[in-house]
Amino acid sequence: MQATEPRIDATPRWPDGKRSCVALAFDLDGPTGSAMLDGSIWRNPAYFTLGAYGPWRALGRILDVLAERGVRATFFVPAWVMENWPSQCREIVRGGHEVAYHGYRHEAFWTLTPERQREIMEISTQLFERHLGVRPVGFRTPSGDWSAETPGILAEFGVRYSSSMRGDDRPYVLDAKSGLIEIPARWELDDYASLAYQRRPDFPAGLDRIASYETTLDNWRREFDGSHDEGLCMTTLFHPKVSGKPGRIALIEGLIDHMLAAGDVWFATGSEVADWWMSSGQASA
Ligand SMILES: [Zn+2]
Repeated sequence: MQATEPRIDATPRWPDGKRSCVALAFDLDGPTGSAMLDGSIWRNPAYFTLGAYGPWRALGRILDVLAERGVRATFFVPAWVMENWPSQCREIVRGGHEVAYHGYRHEAFWTLTPERQREIMEISTQLFERHLGVRPVGFRTPSGDWSAETPGILAEFGVRYSSSMRGDDRPYVLDAKSGLIEIPARWELDDYASLAYQRRPDFPAGLDRIASYETTLDNWRREFDGSHDEGLCMTTLFHPKVSGKPGRIALIEGLIDHMLAAGDVWFATGSEVADWWMSSGQASA
């Protein structure tokens, strides 16, 4: 893989001279993931509902918050979730948001052969078309990483950008051959880091507590403040099943209100950011 190194002193330019960019993103994982891949989730109905709560209940709450504030976002959706909650997922598109690839059942792409990765992309493409009538152009790798072949496979399916890596706080050309633009996310902006807690399976193992909500919101606001000060691009790794709950939704509201109060922010979907990065000539910076 060949990565093009952006110049360290390159301050991004955003549409209409906005100071910084925010590409809010939610991973609508539902009950997909390792327990579904190894089949154990079918012997753990309570654990299934923990994930199902995301598309079934929490998603609507998040969509309401975004609509009230006139802010659009990107939802990375495993195709299995769309297959099982199609009407909820259609609300994402109806709200003007972007949907993008996130595996079929949240597979760890770095463990898969190129053939299997292609099959997952093929199934996902068909399901997005059948249920939502869209052809996604974005991808966030489930479970952290991918293999050397993945960027080329994504390009075969018309993917133009990824939000999977950690190499910058601006968009960058991830892979010169496939032309993929990367919109990097960071663990500091993953709600799991502060708010995930569950039993059987225990998570986090050996640390049965969560951060205070006040501290969590303060952390997120500070991440935005830093990004905004430097004129960067910030995206999020929020999960409806984790932060789209009655008490926690106030954190999402508080963060977006803080951004809106700062002003001069370009709120965009992932594809809009990728297209801007290419068309404004910054992809070769
Ligand atoms: Zn995920």
